[in-house]
Order: sequence, then structure tokens, then C-alpha cells
Amino acid sequence: MLDLFGHYDVVVVGAGVTGVTAAISAGREGARTLLVEGTGFIGGNVTAGRLTKPTGDVDSGLFWEMMSRAADLGGADISLQDAGWGEYRGIFDPEVMLRIMLQMLEEASVEILLHAQVMDAIGSNQVKGIEVLVKSGRKIILADALIDASGDGDVAALSGAQFAVGNPDSGHVQPMSCYLRMMNVETPVLARYIRENPDEFSSVVLPPVQSDNREDYAFRLLASGFTSLIEKARADGKWAFPKNYLTVKTGLLPGEINLNITRFQGDGLDERVLSRAEVELRKQAYEAVDFCKSYLPGFERGALLDVAPKLGIRETRRITGDYILTGDDVKSGRDFADSIGFARAPLDVHEPGGQGGGIVGVEGGYGVPYRCLLPKNIEGLLIAGRCISVDDVAFGSTRNIPVCVLTGEAAGIAGALAARAKVTPRSIDVGEIQASLHRRGIKVRENADASGS
Ligand SMILES: Cc1cc2nc3c(=O)[nH]c(=O)nc-3n(C[C@H](O)[C@H](O)[C@H](O)COP(=O)(O)OP(=O)(O)OC[C@H]3O[C@@H](n4cnc5c(N)ncnc54)[C@H](O)[C@@H]3O)c2cc1C
Repeated sequence: MLDLFGHYDVVVVGAGVTGVTAAISAGREGARTLLVEGTGFIGGNVTAGRLTKPTGDVDSGLFWEMMSRAADLGGADISLQDAGWGEYRGIFDPEVMLRIMLQMLEEASVEILLHAQVMDAIGSNQVKGIEVLVKSGRKIILADALIDASGDGDVAALSGAQFAVGNPDSGHVQPMSCYLRMMNVETPVLARYIRENPDEFSSVVLPPVQSDNREDYAFRLLASGFTSLIEKARADGKWAFPKNYLTVKTGLLPGEINLNITRFQGDGLDERVLSRAEVELRKQAYEAVDFCKSYLPGFERGALLDVAPKLGIRETRRITGDYILTGDDVKSGRDFADSIGFARAPLDVHEPGGQGGGIVGVEGGYGVPYRCLLPKNIEGLLIAGRCISVDDVAFGSTRNIPVCVLTGEAAGIAGALAARAKVTPRSIDVGEIQASLHRRGIKVRENADASGS
């Protein structure tokens, strides 16, 4: 018989941005909440993975509060920007964001358990808790409501939920990447090159006026492309990355550039592949520094600040829920009676198995049904974030931060309501969740304002 770690109203698995949002959300509803995380990091991809720009718009809810509080500390720019494929709001500093997350978790009285890997789910069709591997051994954690925010849908899969992975025909998933940060880049020189060579870029955001002051570019430069410089390097035998474009964005510090340039194709659920990816992507990151210094304007005196400590895994399981959101739903801006949020995020697909990638804007936005958070035939469990119930096309949009946080906030409310009423999340009246979201100023339906009318 394993030791009991504790029994909580709500247990959230995974302390990425989805899980942090879900835990704060449940805590603010008065639920006794535990946030369980396998590593020592809080924030997952958005802090340890350095994915510091929501692709899409967020202007209400807990994540908006996080970004606003980060901006108050000088750690984010939350102005609305047009990137060509659509609008986004906010680039933030990962360490400032982590500081805000820790503050908000504490304010919501959320207990945090780190270095606790979930190994099993207790109960199959009716999930009662989880088994974790912690430093002192294996322990049981019981929950009135469980939220799987593990990104990979580990808890749902361990509970016997159905799931899909990748393209239905090929099984291919979007590739993994690892961000790197360089320092001491002459940002004004880089900005001038981007301004003068618009044909090389699929997406550009720059301050309206060219400045020679590096500080003026903090959080305000974003560009995807550099195609002719990549071609030149390829001809010189200096570009071996399986990719035909790269993305740069500025951070908080003068001369800080975040680079998305590495790529590794493989199954993020296979431990051998994961280990190879960790090593290979770091090797690519070091080679990327050499490429940047030789070929990118302004990088001549640049230096590597760091390679993101967390591997960026774009795609693994999509858990099958009571409803599977489709690419057509997303593209047509469909609204749903049981919507728990109106998502504004484009379809962002890094070509599975190929070198390309592209972001396709979604006009207006679309509703996310509560049913996408309920794993089919499983009681006691909600799914939130990257692993919600969608098809492979809709996934290109729902994997983005604005949609992950929207599902996290709603799952936190639903979990707290279920625990309070001692019922399973599937039995909750979705109107109650929507009412709580309205009180928080979140628009859940296309034609509803924030007050719900
Ligand atoms: C390279 C890359 C670039 C991206 N760029 C952007 C971008 O520019 N803009 C944008 O909006 N989105 C972007 N995304 C997508 C977005 O960042 C992620 O989909 C999102 O952050 C996922 O958040 P999450 O909290 O659901 O998952 P994660 O951040 O992955 O968090 C999940 C957490 O669960 C933990 N966990 C997993 N399994 C277990 C277990 N069994 N037991 C305990 N803990 C567990 C993990 O350690 C992790 O901390 C990008 C993704 C990648 C990979």
C-alpha cells in the first residue's frame, strides 16, 4: 500500500502556462488546489522553453492579468501588433513572467508539488487520483476533480482515454525545436536590414521609426524569413538545419535576440527520441550561433546567452473528448452554445517532416466547446491546453498560448465547481462555468459581451 500525499478538491497535473492558469483559476474559486509538476520548472514552455509571444490575441482573463502585471514590472510589451497573419499581443520576459506566476499561485493559495512525475491514474473510467514518483518514493494523491494539463495528455492516456497523434494518414507530428538567446546583437543594424529587404520576410513587426538605440527595440521586433541569407549559407555549406526560414524576436535586454532556428522531427512520446532530440537540438543551437555571427547583419559581435532548458515539443497526443473541434470549425469561426472562450489564434503549422512552415490567420475567432475538455467515457477528469480534443488541423490553432490559457482558466473553474458540488465535471451546468467566466470579464460567445448579455 502506497503512502497518501494528500487529498485535494482539485489537482492539476503539469505546471506549464495551462496548468498554472488552471490552478490559479481553481484557487480563486475557493478550491483547495494542488499543482503537480514532473520537473523543477514552473511555466513549462513559456518560461523554461522561452516561448514568450502568444500567437494570437489575449485581452482578458488570468493570462492577460499575468502579462499586464509583467508589463507593470517592465517585463512585457502588451500593445496589439499586426504580424501580417493577424494580431498578437505581448512579448514578455520569461523570468519576469515566472515571478508573476509564483506571486499569483501564492495569492490563490495553490500548493505546489515539484519533481513529481505522474506514473499512473487511480481508477480507470472514474478517475480518483494519481500515483506520483517523488524523491521519497511512490505516493498517492487523491482529487475530487483532476485536470490534465501535462501537454502530452499523460493522465488521460493512463486513465484509458482514447487519443490520436499527428496526421491521420501519415502519423507525422509537427517538429520539435529549442529556442536560443543571443546577447550583444546590434539590433538597429538588424532592424534596418529587415526594413530594407521586405521580400525576404513572411512576417515583420518593427517599431514605426528606425532608431539607433538598442533599448527602443525591446519586445518590439519580430521577423520570420531571412531567405536569401539562408540560401547563401546553404551554398557555402554552412546551413544544415532542416528548415528554410528562421524567426527572431527581441527580449527585455538591449541587444537580446531570441532565435527559433532549430528543428528535429520525431515522436515526443518516445524516450529514446526525446533523448536524441535534447542532444541534437543543442548541437544545432551551437551551430546556429556560428551561422548568425557569420551571416546575419548586426550579429557579428553577438554571443550565446543560453539555450532554452526545456525542449520545445509542439505536438503529441490529442485526447478524444465529447466533441472533436475541427479545422472547419476554426476556419469558419464557429460558435457553440457550450463555448468556454472565444479563441483568437491563427493556424500555425511547422511542416511535419519538411522544411517549411506557415501561419494562416483566422478571421474573427471561434468558440471552444466545453465538451473538448471532457475525455470521452472518463469521469472525474478534465483536459486543458495542448492535449484538448481537436483534429490535426484545428490543433494548429489550439496549441497556441491564447487557446491553452483559455482552456486552463475554464478547466480550473469547472474543476472547482465539480469538487464543491461533489459531482463529476461532466455533470456541471456549463452555464455556471460561463457565468463565472463572465464575472472575470471573459467573452465566451461571439455575440456576447463580457457581461454575458
Ligand atoms: C518550439 C515551440 C515554439 C512555439 N512558439 C509559440 C509561439 O510563438 N506562440 C504561441 O502562442 N505558442 C507557441 N508554441 C506553442 C505553445 O507554447 C505551447 O503549446 C504551450 O505553451 C503549451 O502549454 P502547456 O502548459 O499546455 O504545456 P507545457 O508548457 O508543455 O507544460 C506541460 C507541463 O507538464 C509537465 N508534465 C508533462 N508530463 C508530466 C507528467 N507525467 N507528470 C508530471 N508533469 C508532467 C511538463 O514537465 C510541463 O511542465 C510553441 C511551441 C513550441 C514547442
